[in-house]
Amino acid sequence: MHIISNLNIFRQTFCLFIFLSLTVNSNADAPMVKAGITKQLTDNVYIIPDNRISLVPNIGIIVGKESIMVVDTGMGPRNAELVLQEVRIISDLPVAYLAITHFHPEHGMGAQSFPAETRIIVPQAQKLELAEKGESYIDFFSGMSPEISELLSEVKLVSADITFEKEISVDLGGLIVKLLYFHAAHTRGDMFIYLPDQKLLFGGDIIVDRFFPIMPDEDSSVLGWMKSLKKLKALKPEIVVPGHGSVSDVSLIDQLSIYLAAMKLKVSLAKRNELSLEETLQLLIPQFQRSYSHWDDPHWIKNAIERLYAEI
Ligand SMILES: [Zn+2]
Repeated sequence: MHIISNLNIFRQTFCLFIFLSLTVNSNADAPMVKAGITKQLTDNVYIIPDNRISLVPNIGIIVGKESIMVVDTGMGPRNAELVLQEVRIISDLPVAYLAITHFHPEHGMGAQSFPAETRIIVPQAQKLELAEKGESYIDFFSGMSPEISELLSEVKLVSADITFEKEISVDLGGLIVKLLYFHAAHTRGDMFIYLPDQKLLFGGDIIVDRFFPIMPDEDSSVLGWMKSLKKLKALKPEIVVPGHGSVSDVSLIDQLSIYLAAMKLKVSLAKRNELSLEETLQLLIPQFQRSYSHWDDPHWIKNAIERLYAEI
């Protein structure tokens, strides 16, 4: 029992090490949220676009008649302060809620900068994952560059005020926002934010635009990811805000579904033909690199195949 769990920890750490060493190269500068570029998507929804900068997420600002919900914080308190300054340009209503799509440092580790009145909402699975893995993710990300280390140096992990199992609705004053949890996918606790009236979806890192989906450690699940995409598509969203990349429509969900379905088919076939993991990687990585040469961060193909090989 001990041996198995130690091995899992070793594997997780090893995967994470690869993840970080690969990400460092593409991230020479500090991943800072950019001020002054906030874009209005609908009457109630704004985003601070990521500008395709590595480790900067799309940040959401949802404004009701009575209060505001912010989606994700940027990495560390300095980024979160920039986010709050952008919020204040839009509205002086109270920021009643902070919705964190998942526990990764660039998405939630600026929570401490939010005012005391702000209530943090996450799925229960995410709250537990932050408590278990938050400190180790700070350490690993801090090792990526001096700039990231500085951004994370003052982080205090803040536990959520409100948690839920599968779904919760919040009223911002004439505006209902649904928060949804389905399965472990990118992390154990990925949350989706959906505005039914506007058919607008925040997908967190389950939906990325022209990036390969990231399976950072052994808690990631390709099968969970595919099931989540199916459930998101069933919501029939018309505006889809990815965790990283440009805002678009349901085509973002379709693209990722097609990629993962193709991978599932090919890995299943490889296993049926009794190919080892190593042989499967050697066969499939170049195929996906060729077919998706317009997507960034192809080093993530490997982890997805490894996860699937273990899951199928
Ligand atoms: Zn992430």
